[in-house]
Parts: sequence; structure tokens; C-alpha cells
Amino acid sequence: MQSRVMEHESLNKYKPVNCRHFINGAFMDSLSGETVSNINPATEKEIGRIAVGGEEEVNLAASAAKKALQGPWGRMTSFERSSVIRRIGDLILENREELAYLEAVDTGKPYRLALEMDITRAAHNFYFFADYLTSMGTEAYQQDQKALHYAVRRPVGVVGMINPWNLPLLLLTWKLAPCLAAGSTAVMKPSEWTPMTATKLAELCSEAGIPDGVVNLVHGFGPGSAGEAITTHPDIDAVTFTGDTKTGTAIMQAAAPSLKKLSFELGGKNPNIIFADSDLDEVIETTLKSSFLNQGQVCLAGSRIYVESRIYDEFLEKFSRAAKEMTVGDPFDERTNVGALVSREHYERVKYYINLAGEEGGTIITGGTAMPEGLEEGYYVQPTIVTGLKQSARCVQEEIFGPVVTVIPFDTEEEAVGFANDTSYGLGTSIWTNDLRKAHRVAHRIEAGIIWINTWYLRDLRTPFGGMKESGVGREGGAHSFEFYSELSNVTVKL
Ligand code: NAD
Repeated sequence: MQSRVMEHESLNKYKPVNCRHFINGAFMDSLSGETVSNINPATEKEIGRIAVGGEEEVNLAASAAKKALQGPWGRMTSFERSSVIRRIGDLILENREELAYLEAVDTGKPYRLALEMDITRAAHNFYFFADYLTSMGTEAYQQDQKALHYAVRRPVGVVGMINPWNLPLLLLTWKLAPCLAAGSTAVMKPSEWTPMTATKLAELCSEAGIPDGVVNLVHGFGPGSAGEAITTHPDIDAVTFTGDTKTGTAIMQAAAPSLKKLSFELGGKNPNIIFADSDLDEVIETTLKSSFLNQGQVCLAGSRIYVESRIYDEFLEKFSRAAKEMTVGDPFDERTNVGALVSREHYERVKYYINLAGEEGGTIITGGTAMPEGLEEGYYVQPTIVTGLKQSARCVQEEIFGPVVTVIPFDTEEEAVGFANDTSYGLGTSIWTNDLRKAHRVAHRIEAGIIWINTWYLRDLRTPFGGMKESGVGREGGAHSFEFYSELSNVTVKL
């Protein structure tokens, strides 16, 4: 496939990178020399090789990370640590075009989206935690005239970070920035499908002045490979994981014998509840994003849309018209709204669910499994809207993680809340209404960690982020991230 309009000619100077491990401040191949192919999902062509690490590489990385806790890193003041962390943010922005290019060729997402969302937010993760570190306080309690109690914070130690492929740099930095701010050290594993920006980040951390051994990167797969080795390693004190709910269960089991501290951000099947008294134009504009942004591969995607019956037909007409107008195609074409799905395996999975929707009695009112017009290769799926499914259908209950949404009408507030909560997940929810009381009332009844009223994906990094039910364990963001990446000791002084 030829790129129709390359967003910037200057991007031609960037090249995909071969991904090697970064351990104790240096890049290295796997001890076995093993590599796998890295495929560009928009062209289906190999764009590089990825080192496949396992137990041996994780051993080296964990031992470097453990040693680094006692080295110059452990002796830095919080102001020194904060300025190095801030410098990583600066370097990300200085290299933003190259990072966005790498993210786009690795994931298939539109270059412009990578530039404006993934890379910009990745830099802000470092700025936010650099500031947070120098402005936070600690807990202290005075117990009458008897005693003074205060909490002392120290790094949790070596943290294993296991990452998914949908927002590779953004989610990795959401873990690494608070880890460094807390003074801990890292053994990171990116997804085997999208390892490029993590590799570049390791280089930038070193350039920013992070001492050797503090940030380590091991590439590889999950079970029986680098991922599993991280979850069982005795010198890794905590594991933070973002990915599929089933993988979360496997990691919890593997980590149990060594009682590691765990933080999980897992899957979602998030309701988007639209009441008749909402502002429909605003609803459509945001619902297009919550349905199809990043090809629908967003854990917070509002993939179950519930619309009050009174406006159901009008909503469907406007929403499907807008979805049909979206441009699917080359991630480097500036007109593209929807790029390629991340891999052949995932592409087949999403198409399986679209076919299943038909078998379950659904009607595909736009989209489907056919290749979008004008495209001959690449893992492309058109924005797909399914109606007529029962609440119990698998396509309504299971996470598809692609540009596929279901739309179901409801009559009452009670019914909407019932539908929304009728799932094993509990990550995000959007509620659309101009009735203030109804908005709060419904928000308080929804079983989800993140609830938006008249918006979607609006984030402030100080707020608690995470899921309930099968969508996660623990919360991240501001003080919550700090809790995870540090240990607290209480000191009591008898007065
Ligand atoms: P995945 O669980 O298949 O893989 C994630 C990572 O885990 C990869 O690096 C993989 O190599 C590793 N892994 C797999 N099995 C492992 C094992 N047994 N032990 C250790 N590591 C293992 O998930 P994915 O397909 O990469 O990502 C998509 C999923 O991530 C979706 O379910 C999505 O909702 C979820 N997600 C959640 C959030 C959130 O904040 N809640 C954010 C993004 C993605």
C-alpha cells in the first residue's frame, strides 16, 4: 500500500529500530541470540527483529536493578531525582516525531494520534510525577500529649512492569514515572507486538542521566518467557501489569509464592449511557471517539452503548452516518481517522466477533468484516455498529477491543443502570444527561472505577484511576501511584 499523503516529508528520515534488551545501562542481545520478527500491521511487512529474552535476561536485569537501589540513585535528593525525571519528559518532547513515527509503524495507529495523544501524554507523565515528588507531604498524627506518629516513605524496591500493545509508550511511562519518583528501580517488559518506543525510551532515560541499572528493559513473550520470569523472580518486589483479565489471573497465581505487591489494570466493556435529555450533537462527537479512537483498542472504550428509546432512532441515524464518514487507512495519511489493528491474530479475533454478532441475531448497520475500499493489505476493520443484540449476547458481554460497538435501547433509569452493571467488568462509564440530579444519582450506582458525566477520557493525573470487579486491582494516579511504588513505615515517638 502506498502512503497517499505523508503527513510530513521529514518523517522519511526515521527508520524502524531493531529491539534489543537494555540491562545495566547497555543494549544487549539475548544470550541465546534468539529473535522474532516485528511486523508493521499496516503493510504486513517485517520492519525489524526483536530479541526474545527469558529467565537469564530477567536475572541480569533484576540483579542490576537491585544493585542500583544502593548506588548513586539511592543517594540522590528528591530535587535531583525530580530534575532527572523532568529531563526524560523534555527528551520525549524533543524526540516526539521519531517516537510517534515508531509508535505508528509498530501499532498501526494514525501518526497524528500517536503524536498528539500517546507521545505528548507520555512526556506529561514524567512532568507530573517530577512535580509531585517535590510537593508531597507525609502522614502525621498527634495523639494527645502522649505520642507523635509519622510515616516514613522509602522505595518499594525493584518493580516489574508488564505492558500491553495498545498505548505502548503512554502506559509504560504511566508506570515508570511514578516508580522513579518514588526512588524504586525497574525491569520493564513491553508487549512482544509493540516494543519499539520502549527501546527508544531506555536510551532517552540514559541520556537524561538515569544511573545504570535503574531502568532495565527485557523483551520477550508472556508464559514461559520474560513475562513469567518477572512474575516469579525473588528479587522483584512488586509487579504492575496492564493487559487482559485472564493474564492478570495467571500473574497473580505466579506471583503468589513470593507475595509480591501487585497492581493490575485489566480489561473493560464499558457502558456509554445516553439519556434523551442530553445534547445529541456533543454526544455523537464524543461517542465517535469513545467507540473508534485508536481503532477501538482502548481499555476505556465505550463499547456498549445504551440509548433512551425516545431518541434511539435519531441517535442511530446520526451516529451511523458519522461513523461511515470516518476514513480508514494508512496511519501516515493525514486524513486517516482509523488505522490498522495491531496484528493478524488480533484482526482475526475482531472479525470473529463481527461474524458472531450476526450469528447471535444482531444487525450490522455499518462496517463489517470486508476490507475498507481502496485497501489491499494491512489489518484494517471499518467502524462497525451492531444493533438488535440481547444484553446476554457474547458480543455485548465480552471485550472485543476493536472498532466494534453494540447499541441497545432502554426505557427507564433503572433499566439503564441494570444493563450497565450487568457485566463482569467495572472499568469506565460515560453518562450523558443534562439533569444534574439524575447524573449524580446514576454515577453513584454504577459499578466502575472511572465515571464520566457528559464526557469521556478526560483525565487529571491526580485522580484515582483503575477498575473494580474483573477490571483491576488497586488504583493508580497521584498519591495512589506513590503508595504502590513505595513502602511506608510508621514511627511512633512517646512524648
Ligand atoms: P495481554 O494480557 O495479552 O498482554 C499484556 C502483556 O502481558 C504482554 O506484555 C504479554 O507478553 C504479557 N503476558 C502475557 N501472558 C503473561 C504471563 N502469563 N505472565 C506474564 N506476562 C504475560 O494483553 P494485551 O492483548 O497486550 O492488551 C490488551 C488488554 O489490555 C485488553 O484487555 C485491554 O482492556 C487491557 N488494557 C487495560 C488497560 C487499563 O488501564 N485497565 C489499559 C490498556 C489495556
